[in-house]
Amino acid sequence: MSENVQIVAPPDGFTGSGFFATSLDKVIGLARSHSLWPLPFATSCCGIEFMATMGSHYDISRFGSERPSFSPRQADLLMVMGTIAKKMGPVVKQVYLQMAEPRWVIAVGACASSGGIFDTYSVLQGIDRVIPVDVYVPGCPPRPEQILDGLMEIRRIAREEPIRRRESEEYKALLESYQI
Ligand code: SF4
Repeated sequence: MSENVQIVAPPDGFTGSGFFATSLDKVIGLARSHSLWPLPFATSCCGIEFMATMGSHYDISRFGSERPSFSPRQADLLMVMGTIAKKMGPVVKQVYLQMAEPRWVIAVGACASSGGIFDTYSVLQGIDRVIPVDVYVPGCPPRPEQILDGLMEIRRIAREEPIRRRESEEYKALLESYQI
């Protein structure tokens, strides 16, 4: 340890059980990761798997995400599940734009991730053509365990994300690449 670093003594009354020192980043990350409110954008079969994920057997409420929000302003996790036609691309983007920062996105299943089996003129070949995606969940359809695994990955990202990341040049450049 550098000789310039000094460990200060805690002030009177702030010692003993019930007190600990941490950083603001870690506390905020912990709170965010345990209270992600999903906005289910379900257009086809993968949405059924999400319904199972919400049910009592898989019980997404174990992770603080049992409150689906159909209002983008009260959601911080956009879950796109199903085939997205090209004409729906602007709608997905508008929903994303209406969500407040910090916001995260999961592409659930092959269709949302890459167009899946629908390599046709009318289907968007992955939602990352219109919005940035944080986690891709493979499968056609993915099982509820896989959707939960995707949620776990988002929770890890939220937990470890510095609170100033959204103000970084890198993040702004990412949004600009999507004309956002
Ligand atoms: S990935 Fe498969 S299961 Fe999911 S919406 Fe597409 S076709 Fe349906």
